[in-house]
Amino acid sequence: MKMLSAVMKLAAPPIMGASTAYEDNDAIPLPFSSTVKRMVLIIEDSYGIRAFMRHALITSGYDVFEAGTAFEAYRILRSNTIDAITLDLGLPDEDGLEFLRAIRSEGEGSFLAVTCPVIICSVRDDRGTRETAKKLGACAYLKKPFAIDDLISSVNEAVDPVVNAQN
Ligand code: CA
Repeated sequence: MKMLSAVMKLAAPPIMGASTAYEDNDAIPLPFSSTVKRMVLIIEDSYGIRAFMRHALITSGYDVFEAGTAFEAYRILRSNTIDAITLDLGLPDEDGLEFLRAIRSEGEGSFLAVTCPVIICSVRDDRGTRETAKKLGACAYLKKPFAIDDLISSVNEAVDPVVNAQN
């Protein structure tokens, strides 16, 4: 409240007839901000697993894009803002770790430079793969088969680390 009164004192006196909507942005939450859904890109070539993940994420209030191949994922990433990615490593057209390297890379593939959190979802569970994924900036690693709760809590924490840290 202190912050708010300070802001209001600093604001220019209202001009007759001018809208004050701009100054009110801090005080009144816009319905817009509470209804905008976070967008998760599911990259997974198994239709069954993708459907399971889609259902779980939509039920938890997310919007989703789906890609069954790395090629489709590149296409989606080029033209959309994504808040989090779930990444299968065994994709038909490219290894998931190579895909991750490419979208993070500042060299070749830097046309994307994707910075959003990436959660690995894979049957692979060797230490080398986990370490490489971490080095490439993956924020979580879910071994298949994983529980819905683990998927949702990983995505929640990835998109809102402060809010969800204690949960
Ligand atoms: Ca796969």
